[in-house]
Amino acid sequence: MTTAQRGPSSLPARQVAVRIRNLRKTFDEQEALKQIDLDIYEGEFLSLLGPSGCGKTTLLRIIAGFEQPDQGEVSIGGVDTLPIPPHKRPVNTVFQSYALFPHMTVLDNVLFGLKMAKVPRQEALKRAERVMAMVEIESFTKRKPHQLSGGQKQRVALARAIVNEPKVLLLDEPLGALDLKLRKQLQVELMQLQRRVGITFIYVTHDQEEALVMSDRIAVMQTGLIDQLGSVEEVYERPKTRYVATFLGSSNLIDGVVRRYQDGVASIDTALGELRSSIGSYTPNSPVTLAVRPEKIYVKSDASAYYLENVLEGVVEDIIYTGVENQYLIRVKDRTFAAYVMNKALTEHEAFNIGNQVKLIIPAQSVVPLND
Ligand code: ATP
Repeated sequence: MTTAQRGPSSLPARQVAVRIRNLRKTFDEQEALKQIDLDIYEGEFLSLLGPSGCGKTTLLRIIAGFEQPDQGEVSIGGVDTLPIPPHKRPVNTVFQSYALFPHMTVLDNVLFGLKMAKVPRQEALKRAERVMAMVEIESFTKRKPHQLSGGQKQRVALARAIVNEPKVLLLDEPLGALDLKLRKQLQVELMQLQRRVGITFIYVTHDQEEALVMSDRIAVMQTGLIDQLGSVEEVYERPKTRYVATFLGSSNLIDGVVRRYQDGVASIDTALGELRSSIGSYTPNSPVTLAVRPEKIYVKSDASAYYLENVLEGVVEDIIYTGVENQYLIRVKDRTFAAYVMNKALTEHEAFNIGNQVKLIIPAQSVVPLND
C-alpha cells in the first residue's frame, strides 16, 4: 500500500465513542435500517457512504435523537443514549441547509448554544472567538446569515456546532449545497479541523470521493445494511463485494474458477485466460469474482519486461480524456476493460489511438478476490 496510513490504528486511544448494536428501523413498510452494528472510536472521522435511500440519514438521526429505532442499542461514551432527548445528548448536528437563526448575527448564532448551557458571558465570548478564528469567520461576526455566501454560512454552522464541544459531531451532507471547487476546499479544511479539535465526526455522504478524502474509516451502506467497514485504504484497495468494488471508484470484474492456490498465489481460469492473484485467500475448484481497479493496469505496446504479471492483449475501443488521465476502453475478447493512464509528459508514457493493438499488464497483487 502506498498511501499514508490514517485511521483508528494511528490514533493514540481506541476508546469507543459511539456503540451501535442490532439497530433496526422500519417506516411503514419501508425497512430503512435492517441491522446495524457499528463501533465508532473517539477522535475518528467516520463516513457513512451510500446511495440515496440506503438509510444513512436515518442512522444519523437515531444517533442525534430525532428518530427512535424499532430495536437495538445506541450508547455514547458508554451511556445508553436512547432514553435521552436530543438536546441533552453530547452530540451536535450540522445540516446541509445550515439551519442558522436568520435574525441573529454570526456571533450570536455561535454564542447561542453556550447561552443555553449558561456558560458565563466572558468565557463564552472567548470560546466563540477561538472557534470563529478556527473556521475563519472572525472578520464578519456582525453580519447576519443573509449577508453571507453558502460557504460562509456553513462555516458559521460548523462554529456553532463545535463551540459547545460535543463528544460527537454529526454532519449530514454539509457540503452538498456548495459548488464543486468550494466543496473540495472545505473537504480538506473540515478534515484538518477535525484533527485539530479531536471531536468524533460522523459524516453522511453519497459522494465517494468526499468520503475517501476526509475519512479515517468508511462504512459503505446498501439498503439498510453496512456492506463493508474499514479504513479508506482497506475499502478502496480490498473491496469485499461487487457492490463496494463498483460503488467506491470503479472496477473491472472478471468471473473465474480457482485452479490452483499455492504459496499465496492463485491461478484462476477465466474467459480471458489464466489470471494470477497474490492477495486474498482462495479455495481450489471454487468460483470466484475478481476485481481490478482501472488505474492499476498498465497499457503498453510491448509487455516483454513484465513477464511475472498477467498480460492480456486487446484493441483500444475508445479514449476518454479527463485532463488528469486518459481512460482507455480496451476490447479483450468479448469484454471491454477500463484502464486509466495518468496524463504525464509524453516522454514518460505511450499514447495510443483508437484501433491500436495494446497489451494490458495487470500486476498479480492488483487482482482482488470478492466474497460475493
Ligand atoms: P438520501 O441520501 O437520499 O438522504 P439516505 O441514505 O439518507 O438517502 P434515508 O433518508 O435514511 O436514506 O432513508 C432510508 C429509507 O427510509 C428510504 O427508503 C426513505 O424513503 C425511508 N424514509 C426515511 N424517512 C422516512 C419517513 N419519515 N417516513 C417514511 N419513510 C422514510
